[in-house]
Amino acid sequence: MDQLKQIIRDIHDFPKKGIVFKDITTLLSDAKSFNRMVDLLAHRYVGEKIDQIVGIEARGFILGAALAYKLGTGITLVRKPGKLPYNTCSINYELEYGSDSLEIHEDAFQKGDRVIIADDLLATGGTMTAVVELIEKLGAEIHECAFMAELEFLDGRSKLPEGKVYSLLKF
Ligand code: AMP
Repeated sequence: MDQLKQIIRDIHDFPKKGIVFKDITTLLSDAKSFNRMVDLLAHRYVGEKIDQIVGIEARGFILGAALAYKLGTGITLVRKPGKLPYNTCSINYELEYGSDSLEIHEDAFQKGDRVIIADDLLATGGTMTAVVELIEKLGAEIHECAFMAELEFLDGRSKLPEGKVYSLLKF
């Protein structure tokens, strides 16, 4: 785990002053680290009844697709407004400054589908909270919210369903 943590690069003052951005591209581009990260996360869910992985645009697609392939499920995309071609269900959520929204196809799930939501990093938890709400609105059940990494000092997990949050690398 320490090796995986070390390969993630800190970029200071990106995208704005005062933020330390966790650059996961260094982990993704290293074959051994990428393989190990996906294997460790997928291993957690082997043998569970999972119907669908949900990936959040954009870095959540990378982990989401790899997990879906490993677990033999499909992947459903949660995207920024105007990107999905069919009828969508959308949710608005607050950011530090202003607000944003995310969309999912309205027919993404069968009632009661169990899903894992995948994203690269848990920070304040605002994005994942919105996606949880979106998915529950469509009648699916959350098995777990899975992250490559978590910024524990921001305590994002306290906003999310208790006991349903897992992150591989904690900072
Ligand atoms: P949040 O809604 O605050 O949990 O932030 C979620 C999204 O913002 C994640 O999908 C990350 O991709 C990105 N993000 C937020 N803070 C950071 C950070 N310090 N380093 C890298 N990515 C971040």
